[in-house]
Amino acid sequence: MEHDQSRSLAFVLNHQSEAESISGVVELLDHFGVDVKRVDPDGLRDHIRTLPNLEKHANHYLVATPAGLTSLEESKDGCESLDCTERFQGTFLFGLNPESQLPMCLEPLSGGAFEEASLTERYQISDRLVEVCGPMSGLTIDSSLEVPPFLFSHGSRGTPAEPIIFCDGGWLFARVRGGSSEAFAATSACTVALGAEQTSNLKASSLVSELLPFLMWIRHTFSDSGWQLADCGANLIIDDPLLKPEYGFLDLTELLDLVGPDFAATIGFIPCNHKRTAPSFATRVREKYPQFSICVHGCYHSRGEFGNRPDSELIELAHVAHRDMEHHRESTSIPFENVMVFPQGIFSANAMKCLRRAGYLAAVNTEILDVGNNAGVEMRSLLQPAVLCHGGAPLLLRRNVTDDISSIALDLLIGKPCLLVAHHDYFSEGMQPLKALLSAIHNLSASLTWTNLEAIVGMNYWIRPNGAGETRVRLFTEAARMEAPAHSGRLLFEKAREGNSDTLRVLVGGTPVEFESREGLLTWGVQSDDYLSLNIEIEYERTPPLSKSVFSQSHRMRWKIRRSLSEIRDDYLMKATGIYGFLQAARRQMKRSGAG
Ligand SMILES: [Zn+2]
Repeated sequence: MEHDQSRSLAFVLNHQSEAESISGVVELLDHFGVDVKRVDPDGLRDHIRTLPNLEKHANHYLVATPAGLTSLEESKDGCESLDCTERFQGTFLFGLNPESQLPMCLEPLSGGAFEEASLTERYQISDRLVEVCGPMSGLTIDSSLEVPPFLFSHGSRGTPAEPIIFCDGGWLFARVRGGSSEAFAATSACTVALGAEQTSNLKASSLVSELLPFLMWIRHTFSDSGWQLADCGANLIIDDPLLKPEYGFLDLTELLDLVGPDFAATIGFIPCNHKRTAPSFATRVREKYPQFSICVHGCYHSRGEFGNRPDSELIELAHVAHRDMEHHRESTSIPFENVMVFPQGIFSANAMKCLRRAGYLAAVNTEILDVGNNAGVEMRSLLQPAVLCHGGAPLLLRRNVTDDISSIALDLLIGKPCLLVAHHDYFSEGMQPLKALLSAIHNLSASLTWTNLEAIVGMNYWIRPNGAGETRVRLFTEAARMEAPAHSGRLLFEKAREGNSDTLRVLVGGTPVEFESREGLLTWGVQSDDYLSLNIEIEYERTPPLSKSVFSQSHRMRWKIRRSLSEIRDDYLMKATGIYGFLQAARRQMKRSGAG
C-alpha cells in the first residue's frame, strides 16, 4: 500500500547477519500498526539524499543495529557528511554490545563501555519518563532472563542521557536527547517471534530485555499513528460463590459496598445454582448493576466440562448453562453477562466454536492452552486484546490477583483490558489486600474504565488514522460499542475471520451493511456521519438446543452432588484453620500448574 505522507514511517535498516532480529522488529512494528519499510544501506542513503543536507525527515524514524550503521558508513561515497541519525526525527538502536561502535548521537551514553548483566537482576523502570514507560513507570521487575543482556556500564543522570530500564550493574535501555530529536538505545536484540507458540500468558519478568524496550519505544513514538486501544476496561471476576451475604471467606456485602466508578466486579456464577439466590439479597445485587454483575461459570462446574468432548456435548452444556442463567434472571431480575468463564480454566478450541454457535459474546480465561489439540497460541495472539486463533468466540485473558503487578502493567502497555480473577480464599484477611491492589492498579493508569464484562467486550477494538480522511478500526470481538473517533471520516472496519464460521450479517447501528470476506479478514466501510450509533454486531449461524439431552440423568445427578461437596469445602471446611493452610498450599501448587 502507498504510504500516506502525513503518517509516521519507520525505516528498518537491513543487515544480513542479523536478519532474524531485524525481521522480529519489522513484524512487531507492523503488528502495532506502524508503517514500516525494510531498507538496504543503498536504499537508505538514497532516501536521505532526497532532502538537502542538514534537513531532517519529519515523521521518519530510523531503526538499526550498530552493525547496520557501520555498513552504511562504509558504503558512503565520500561526497556527503552522513551522520544519518541526525537526518531522522528519531532513532532506535538495538542489539548494542561491546563490539559496537556507537554513533555520535549516543556518545553521552557510555563511551562504549559495557558490562554483562547477571542472571538474577532486579530491573528498575524509570519513574521520570512517563511518556515513554506509560503504565510500567517506576516498577521493579525481578527478571528471569535466560540470556543476560549487556548493559551500558555507566551513565549518570543529569547528562543528555536518561536511563529507562536499568539495574545496579548498568543500563539496559536509555534515551539521549539532542535538540528536537530523540535517540533510543537498547542493548537487547529483538528475539520475540510473533509466530512462536506460547503455552501460558505473558510475564513481564521474562520479557524485560527481548520485548519491553521495543514495545515502549513503539507505543511512545507512534502513539498517534499506530494502533490504539480506544478505551481500556477493568473488572475483577470472583469464581464460584453463590449470591448470598457470605461465601467462604468472601463477605459479599462488603464487596458490594466497594463497587463504584473505580471498581467493578463479576461473580463467576455456576448456572446450576440458579434456584438458590434469596429474593432479599437479589435486590441488593441488582442495585449495583452494572458495576457488580454475574457471568456464566461452566454449567455444572464439573472437571473439564468444556474440555475435550464431542461437539454435541459441548453445545448442550453451553445451552443448558445459558438456559439456567435465563431462569435465574427471570426469577431474580439480576441481569447476567453473556460471557463464559471456564471451570478450572480448562477449555478446547471446539468449546470456543460451540460457545459462538450457542450465542455467547466471549470467554474469559486464565489459561491459553487448548486441551483438545494440546496447543498453545502464537505470541501475536498475546500482543492484542483477545485471542482469536481458536476460532469461535473470542477469548479474553485474565490474570490472578496475586500475579506480579508488572505483568498487569504490561497488558496495559500492549493495549489489553485489565481482567483479574480471585477465589473466596483471597479474602481470608478481609478486603485490605484487594484495596491495596486497586490502589496499585490505579497508580499504573488512572484512565481505566471499571465496568461490566459485556461493556469491556464491546471496547475491544483498536483504531488508527489512515490519512486521507480515513480511520481503520480493527475489531477483536463480534460486538463493539463505539463512538465515532473525532474527524474519523470514512471508517474502514476489519475483523479476523478464523475457522470456518459462516458470517450471516454485519450490522452497524442496527442496519445491515455490505461486507467482504477474503484473506482471512472480514472488511467493510461506512461513512461515520451517516450513523447515529456505530455499534457493531457480527452475526454467525447458531445451533439451536437439542430436544433430548445427550447426557444421562444419573450423569447430571453425579455432577450436582460433586458440586455440593465442593461448596461445603469452600463454605465451611476451609475456615477451619488447619485445613485452610493446607488447602492454600495446594491452591498455590494448582495455580502454578494452571487451574482456575
Ligand atoms: Zn470455578
